[in-house]
Amino acid sequence: MAGSFYPPQRTLMGPGPSDVHPRVLAALARPTIGHLDPAFVGLMDEVKSLLQYAFQTRNALTMPVSAPGSAGMETMFANLVEPGDTVIVCENGVFGGRMRENVERCGGQAIMVQDDWGRAVDLNKVETALKDNPDAVALAFVHAETSTGARSDTEALCALAREHDCFSIVDAVTSLGGIELRVDDWGVDAIYSGSQKCLSCVPGLSPISVSEKAAERIRKRSTPVQSWFLDLNLVMNYWGTGEQRSYHHTAPVNSLYALHESLVLLKEEGLERAWARHERHHRALAAGLEAMGMQLVVPQDERLVQLNAVSIPEGVDDAEVRRLLLLDWNLEIGAGLGALAGKVWRIGLMGHAANKKNVLLCLAALQDVLQRQGAQCGSGGLEAAEAVYRQPDRRQAARPASPVSSCVCPP
Ligand code: PLP
Repeated sequence: MAGSFYPPQRTLMGPGPSDVHPRVLAALARPTIGHLDPAFVGLMDEVKSLLQYAFQTRNALTMPVSAPGSAGMETMFANLVEPGDTVIVCENGVFGGRMRENVERCGGQAIMVQDDWGRAVDLNKVETALKDNPDAVALAFVHAETSTGARSDTEALCALAREHDCFSIVDAVTSLGGIELRVDDWGVDAIYSGSQKCLSCVPGLSPISVSEKAAERIRKRSTPVQSWFLDLNLVMNYWGTGEQRSYHHTAPVNSLYALHESLVLLKEEGLERAWARHERHHRALAAGLEAMGMQLVVPQDERLVQLNAVSIPEGVDDAEVRRLLLLDWNLEIGAGLGALAGKVWRIGLMGHAANKKNVLLCLAALQDVLQRQGAQCGSGGLEAAEAVYRQPDRRQAARPASPVSSCVCPP
């Protein structure tokens, strides 16, 4: 007979979900209230304004979609693409490919800009595609390509889109809260993320933000949005303002407590400090891996700090290493996806999981398992990481060129 389920206690250092902060888990367990309860409506307002802070935007249309990141992706294409529209889609990993499918399922035509897996999106190729397709309505790309660990230049790509009179549609599932992202300063039109990566929250919610210009396009569509559930014109009646909310769907009440708590944690830490923390632990992990003789796949200036793709050493059994890490060390790292399947491991340092204890655990565990497999593996990983930790903490010193706003939301 089935009984209660008690999951094993893992350390999650894969591509997501990442470790959930204990305060977020505690929030999740609070009593459920009605999704139109005045107290809940107050929480929804706070979630919106905290998301505006996380995205660095004043966009009124900023809220979580009640479903995972894939639903955030689908929301953007379903609302912004009409049958017959041309969309330039950048593909440098798995998730660009999914964008293409979304465009085509909305009746649009996707013009693909292909880049090697493990590299950033090439701005020159995008510019050429925009020039060659003056009828394109949108440019879609992934800020943080989780399948490869590559970071693309969102600010420059959005500027290109604007120059060519296109909307930008940005996948920030793995970037929000982990690396610099400034929706208003960079002129992003439509962006979606996920709760389970750098926000240290449980999976199942997709924060989104849409500029007024893009919202206007959605309001003026000539065809209804094909998906009733994801139609932002309808969702906004629920996520709109104050007391005027009307029933659209039953919100995942407890998951929204969890998202609220994770955003409060982010605000308490401060965005810049969260970005700097991810960077610091990445440097320690990368130094440790390199000292052990392992190579990161992505060139340094295009690397994500929160997702480290590392080549699997010659002759090592990929699946067996991951199995032993889980079995003996309770540590999850990710396998390669698509073109990189069997060639890389993906080591996440996302949100609450980006900490010194995890970096050292991962290096010690990998060294142990690789040596037991008979692989060539240097033993200086922990020392190299510790050397990085002895350097001054940039979180105290560094201030980015333009500081984040502590409250970007309208009063
Ligand atoms: N986009 C990117 C870049 C992702 O990494 C993921 C998930 O890993 C998704 C979209 C889809 O998100 P979800 O799995 O939450 O549906």
